[in-house]
Amino acid sequence: MITGHTRLIGLLGSPVAHSISPLMHNEAFRVLGLDFAYLCFDVDESALADAVQAMRCLQARGFNCTMPVKVRMCALADRLSPAARLMDAVNTVVNEDGQLIGHNTDGVGYMASLRDAGVCVIGRKMTLLGCGGAATAIAVQAALDGVAEIALFTRAGRSRDRAGELASKLMARTRCRVRSYDLADTATLRRQLAESCLLTNATPIGMAPNTGETPIPDPSMLHGGLVVSDIIYNPSQTRLLSDAKTRGCRTMNGLPMLLFQGAEAFRLWTGREMPLQAVREACFPEAMQKLVAT
Ligand code: NAP
Repeated sequence: MITGHTRLIGLLGSPVAHSISPLMHNEAFRVLGLDFAYLCFDVDESALADAVQAMRCLQARGFNCTMPVKVRMCALADRLSPAARLMDAVNTVVNEDGQLIGHNTDGVGYMASLRDAGVCVIGRKMTLLGCGGAATAIAVQAALDGVAEIALFTRAGRSRDRAGELASKLMARTRCRVRSYDLADTATLRRQLAESCLLTNATPIGMAPNTGETPIPDPSMLHGGLVVSDIIYNPSQTRLLSDAKTRGCRTMNGLPMLLFQGAEAFRLWTGREMPLQAVREACFPEAMQKLVAT
């Protein structure tokens, strides 16, 4: 119920109408009886500064940022968490008595989703595909949490440069050994996968409508000891995941990451744990739930 005391929490980005975040957070507020309301606002980069100022004036408790405003939000926050600073991207803002604190919960959410599924990568090696916003968040948090080694594969171009910079930054500031490689170099990819316990696809390859595509065209690279995680959640089972199942790998789709990054933002805004089971049941269709951490 909306009251005179209800505090606003929002999502800024463009497009936002498809987002599942309002469903997740409003269900969690309802279950816990918290007097917040979560709304989406379609805001592009040119309107971001005005929208952020409006959130300040309206004394919103905070907001999420999604594409394309995650990077620009860094410059508009009053302070950044260490992870957001390393990632150069903000996906959650908390209004602490007028001070806007920028956080990034994508990496924390991804690592929490692994723990929830009983997948242990701490002290071990992972292979990560892509070096965009999501891959960077995952690599930073994995390195901060104690993953021993990350093999980062990208295609030539912008992401290759980013991968080199990210590898240097993480090697300088954490104990994680990070190396970047060419995604087209299949011999190296095969070798790195053989040494990894986790493969994470953080590229959009295989996302709807291109569901016939996969970043690993030769499934024989996938060994039975590998957990294969695709952060795409539409479709809920990508071609990569179905190939991995055929090879006897344990698989995870992108829904657990989505859920746990939201749960971390929820904790930052409310100081309460998100009621995960209630949110899963309310927001994710049964067929998708079955694919969570199977
Ligand atoms: P992004 O910032 O645009 O990064 C995409 C990355 O994939 C870049 O490194 C890009 O390389 C690479 N890439 C794109 N097409 C490629 C191709 N054909 N071959 C090789 N590399 C390719 O996007 P993002 O925000 O990181 O999102 C990536 C995916 O993760 C999307 O499918 C998104 O829906 C999903 N995601 C899921 C969650 C979740 O909670 N489950 C959260 C965030 C994102 P270039 O720089 O060369 O283009």
